[in-house]
Amino acid sequence: MENCTYTYSKPCNVMEKTYDVIVIGGGTAGSAAAIASAMGGEDTLIIERNSCLGGLASVGQVTPMMHNGIDGRSGRSYINEIIKKKMALEGYGADDHYGNDGWFNPEMIKYALEEIFTEYKGTILYNTELLDTVVENNKIKGVVVHNKSGLSLIRGRVFIDCTGDADAAFASGVTCFTGDELLHNNQAMSLRFMAGNIDILKLKAFLKEIGEADILEYPLVEIASVWEAKTPLNKVFQKGLKDKVIEYPDGKYFQAFSVPGMPGVMSFNCPEIPDIYDTLDTAAVSRGLITGRRMIKRLHSFLKAYIPGFENSCLISSADMPGIRESRRIRGKYILSEKDFSERAKFADGVARTAYPVDIHGLIDEKKLGIKLMERGEYFEIPYRCLITDAIENLLVAGRCISSTFIAQSSVRIQPTCSALGEAAGIAASYCVRNNRKPNELDGKIVRDIMTEKN
Ligand SMILES: Cc1cc2nc3c(=O)[nH]c(=O)nc-3n(C[C@H](O)[C@H](O)[C@H](O)COP(=O)(O)OP(=O)(O)OC[C@H]3O[C@@H](n4cnc5c(N)ncnc54)[C@H](O)[C@@H]3O)c2cc1C
Repeated sequence: MENCTYTYSKPCNVMEKTYDVIVIGGGTAGSAAAIASAMGGEDTLIIERNSCLGGLASVGQVTPMMHNGIDGRSGRSYINEIIKKKMALEGYGADDHYGNDGWFNPEMIKYALEEIFTEYKGTILYNTELLDTVVENNKIKGVVVHNKSGLSLIRGRVFIDCTGDADAAFASGVTCFTGDELLHNNQAMSLRFMAGNIDILKLKAFLKEIGEADILEYPLVEIASVWEAKTPLNKVFQKGLKDKVIEYPDGKYFQAFSVPGMPGVMSFNCPEIPDIYDTLDTAAVSRGLITGRRMIKRLHSFLKAYIPGFENSCLISSADMPGIRESRRIRGKYILSEKDFSERAKFADGVARTAYPVDIHGLIDEKKLGIKLMERGEYFEIPYRCLITDAIENLLVAGRCISSTFIAQSSVRIQPTCSALGEAAGIAASYCVRNNRKPNELDGKIVRDIMTEKN
């Protein structure tokens, strides 16, 4: 592509106010970061391009939260516990009693996050996209954003990049990686969807009849099928394939969960879209979305015709956010790797813990990597140094774009871990504003100690 040096000819408004903490991206990590910072008493702004908080968890329809594999409170994010509690109290969250109390309603999490953040006097600027950052002497002075009012410069003391794509870090000159280390291919993207008017009792009876595992109690249900596992449900998919109702990629990875507070509704963790290897290439992602909606239509026709309980179901929506599992990752002061996973590494500045497996969609068969799964009670930690860089002194990065290898990222990317990382970043930001410290020189043990106290 030809390079073009374009100068924006309209004025850039400079906001008068300087925020203590600016969080860019109000998804899983960003919401937790902003709540932690606001709880600390800092004047906190979230800049979010969508019209609600939650990111993948709301607009991306990614539910439920995966369990991080650690029993009890250890490794849990304090803020995520508040969010889950609020959802459960109002009937929009659930505990499956098999270790996961992170089932939630993706519509109502928007409301819950807004309520919690605004209770601590946080400010949200929706429909606003980060375009650039203004950096002087290794310090971000402000962010340049675009919305219907045009261009604005918003100044802050500490910035937290929770865009999932490390947009603010990249714009500030931080070295970033994307995809696997050899070919730079990203994990497969998906497009989640929801369907309603499903007779879940009838579906459960059918699962029992065919001998499919279904341990969950009504109204909770999970169904899954992949071609490699010759499960009873997969045999039904094979029939659909033979009858040409679905195509091979449609059944490559199929999974769906019921949704608390939405009777008869299921959220589908599929389809997994083939042949999109660069999730930062918007044209490719756009093609992927078109393919995804075709796959959804076929899948839903198949479900109606082949799976009892779905006969009268309707499609509710495909997600408004592409299901991107991995894109840019920063090079931080420490790069978390599969070695840390294998060695169950612990760090003095460990601010999050997980036992969630290496989970790579589309590219690699994880079993062939020879990485030993965690036994019960085992876990590894993520150090604070994965959230900071040598390049920018007042920038923290949290969520799926922290400093890690491609393989390690596939283990840390789940929502409870992203939430814990966001919380750590928010606590660090608040501490640094209060004590006039540089986040990238802060000893992460201080952050760990504050987090441990809260839990
Ligand atoms: C298909 C799929 C299925 C998954 N399944 C599960 C699951 O079942 N359970 C689980 O726990 N995890 C699951 N995950 C992983 C998990 O949902 C994500 O990794 C996690 O939510 C990422 O959180 P985040 O805060 O880093 O990013 P996000 O939640 O994506 O938040 C980023 C936010 O930043 C905003 N943003 C981005 N760029 C800009 C910009 N330039 N300016 C302003 N705003 C911006 C976005 O709009 C978004 O709100 C899944 C992921 C995918 C894609």
